[in-house]
Amino acid sequence: MAGPVPTLGNPKSTIEILNKYQFIFQKKYGQNFLIDPHVLDKIMKAAEITENDYVVEIGPGIGTMTQHLASVARGVTAIEIDKELMPILHDTLKGYENIELINEDVLKVDLKRLLEKKNAGRPAKVVANLPYYITTPIIMGLFEQRVPLVSITVMVQKEVADRMQAGPGTKDYGALSLAVQYYAKPYVAANVPPNCFLPRPKVGSSVIRLQTYEDPPVKVEDESLLFAVIRASFNQRRKTLQNGLSHVPELGISKEMTIKVLQEMGLSESIRGEAMTLEQFAEFTNRATADRNSSKR
Ligand code: SAM
Repeated sequence: MAGPVPTLGNPKSTIEILNKYQFIFQKKYGQNFLIDPHVLDKIMKAAEITENDYVVEIGPGIGTMTQHLASVARGVTAIEIDKELMPILHDTLKGYENIELINEDVLKVDLKRLLEKKNAGRPAKVVANLPYYITTPIIMGLFEQRVPLVSITVMVQKEVADRMQAGPGTKDYGALSLAVQYYAKPYVAANVPPNCFLPRPKVGSSVIRLQTYEDPPVKVEDESLLFAVIRASFNQRRKTLQNGLSHVPELGISKEMTIKVLQEMGLSESIRGEAMTLEQFAEFTNRATADRNSSKR
């Protein structure tokens, strides 16, 4: 929206700023800084940031993407755990008046409250080159806490992006695919090789956009039971659903009940979780909830 023209996003300017502050990379924080302008363009395009958007950036690093986001968006909150990066960020982001920096672990920040204050509770956008060691807790935290979001556009490990968008019957399909697809529609916008980062990560990366649903695509009576059933059925991947569920007695779903519900649904008694769609998991859970409730009466 306003502020200086972004200067970061290539190897030269990144190395200059790192040398100026004699910055030492912290492996424990998953620090791999973006140094490729084309990749930055792709992220900005995938996130479709406009001057009306409020953006939360997780892990700004030296402020590369932050500059690009702040030059388009109405406002940006950038949350960075590493205090050594604060003087650098104050330097690289000076002149931008629409950025708030928070030096904190993102998992400890109440983003719902923050957006209440910053964006009057209206849906915002998350854009980030995520620290890979906590990708899943960050994304699931955003969903489960019902942070009001239009979309989450993030760089993640390619393998994780593949799992997020996988469908039934594929090797990548699992609890993460179902959890993400309950809350959002995933779309992989780009695959990114290790040489686009400094230092280079050991794995390939992808930019994935998760377009959040206003209402989940399936209706379930008991959301926590749905996720418990999904987790139990993928805990033992090669097991049938009935065996997977019977290993977790806390679910209160006996083998007999599983067989009965599967029959009612017209599914094979020996079906495995990996072959079931989100709709089938939801229907299974709703029927099992109804059965459990009626047997309590
Ligand atoms: N956005 C920068 C870029 O693209 O060049 C840096 C991305 S780097 C992959 C991940 C960033 O997240 C690092 O700056 C790291 O210090 C920060 N980070 C790691 N754990 C974090 C946490 N729990 N909360 C907030 N930031 C974190």
